[in-house]
Amino acid sequence: MADEIVRCDACPVLCRIRPGKVGACDRYANEGGLLVRVDPLVITERAETRVPFLEDAAPWDGSLVRTQRFVTGIGAGTTYPDYKPAPFIVASEVHGVDMVTVVSEGIFSYCGLKVKIDTDRYLGPEQAAVRTDGEQIGHVTTAEYGSQMLSLGGVRHLTGGSKREGNVTCQALLALCNRAPVEVTVDGGAAVTLQAGAAPIVNGVQEERMRVGCGSAAIGIFARQWSGHADEVIVVDDHITGVLTEHQAGRFLDMAPAGIRVRGRRSTPGRYFQVAEPGSGWGGTDVVDPLEIIEKIDPKIAWPGLRLLMVSTTGEDAGWYVLDEKLRPQPLPMPAAITAAVERIAENCEPALTTVLFMGGAGGSLRAGVTENPVRLTRSVKEALTRVTCGGAPVYVWPGGGITLMVDVTRMPERAFGYVPTPALVAPIEFTLRRADYEALGGYRDRIRPLAEVLAGTRLERRARDEANPWPVLPPEPLEQDA
Ligand code: SF4
Repeated sequence: MADEIVRCDACPVLCRIRPGKVGACDRYANEGGLLVRVDPLVITERAETRVPFLEDAAPWDGSLVRTQRFVTGIGAGTTYPDYKPAPFIVASEVHGVDMVTVVSEGIFSYCGLKVKIDTDRYLGPEQAAVRTDGEQIGHVTTAEYGSQMLSLGGVRHLTGGSKREGNVTCQALLALCNRAPVEVTVDGGAAVTLQAGAAPIVNGVQEERMRVGCGSAAIGIFARQWSGHADEVIVVDDHITGVLTEHQAGRFLDMAPAGIRVRGRRSTPGRYFQVAEPGSGWGGTDVVDPLEIIEKIDPKIAWPGLRLLMVSTTGEDAGWYVLDEKLRPQPLPMPAAITAAVERIAENCEPALTTVLFMGGAGGSLRAGVTENPVRLTRSVKEALTRVTCGGAPVYVWPGGGITLMVDVTRMPERAFGYVPTPALVAPIEFTLRRADYEALGGYRDRIRPLAEVLAGTRLERRARDEANPWPVLPPEPLEQDA
């Protein structure tokens, strides 16, 4: 263009970039009149310590270690409009099988995060708005076992609200995907600092433990260890509070009924719902003094001297009481055996973490970048002929139509994500399959380049692979007709 301005056509924004400047996403620049991708192409490497005997046609160079390399989508660039082939279509050979990896940075307008927060503490009511910078970026969704869950982003927050809502959502998602901390507030609930792979911070307090189970599960797990040391144990839990002597576990151990009735709705023997309001107190309730959940003590059943342990699902809160002559619980120092049993609960808790799963749908440019007949790619993924990875990390592909995937961002290389101001997230994605399968699904044969050529002609950044991830370039199991 005039004055050496270049137009970037890697996304619908179509930036006009002046010499020495970068485009709106900071990913592309004008270098001397040429459009260049600012960041290097990231490749991951692994050392194969056993060089196969007589496997290669090339003469053996004497090395006992061979390095395998995988081209990730990080720094690969994007394609727009959709019909263009992906930036890199890389040929490699693994264990005598010709493989192809189609590499791209996908622009995900349809994407969001599923955030799992290991805490009992109440974050806010289900469906409540989750906000950053005053804008709603998601909502509280169904709690899971020992964890509170958030659903963040999604196309409605990115595109369906105000421009500011879309941009704030996009930046929050980007930061979380790149493992940076983000503070969110929940309407009618808590302020939470989220960071992938780190402990959540709820209202300024760092969470330490993920509970061993609900109140009923804790009763079942530890009943035998309490039996003989306590006459009653009540495990306080926002969802299912457990009462040992009523519970099947206590009955199996022939424990005498203690006559202590907790408030709330009795579900089944020894299992009570709604003993308190949710909160940041004992076991995710608003309880500060556990005795307040005791509705009554039956004088026909209970007895003076009855030993009562009240404990939360993480063992973080615990109290030891003995009933006096008037059957009133009196706090006393905890005996050593009970202290050990409470510590056993804590020992069985896992470290509380925040887990961030990126979820997105492979759309037009991604599928058309692989083949002119995108439905064949979708089928190939469903038939497990094509392996999908994000930055080399394994993904879960949802059953049903399309290519809707989820990936744990901590298994991806750091700083793997970018954005474009449409707004949308940019994430690396790779499709790996046998070359024969690639050609059969209508792939861009004339764009396939040998790995060595890609590595030689591109600015690279080498990163060690995450050893927990399977190596992405492995041939699929032989097909029936191949056998
Ligand atoms: S936002 Fe980035 S990718 Fe999109 S046109 Fe501008 S420079 Fe290119």
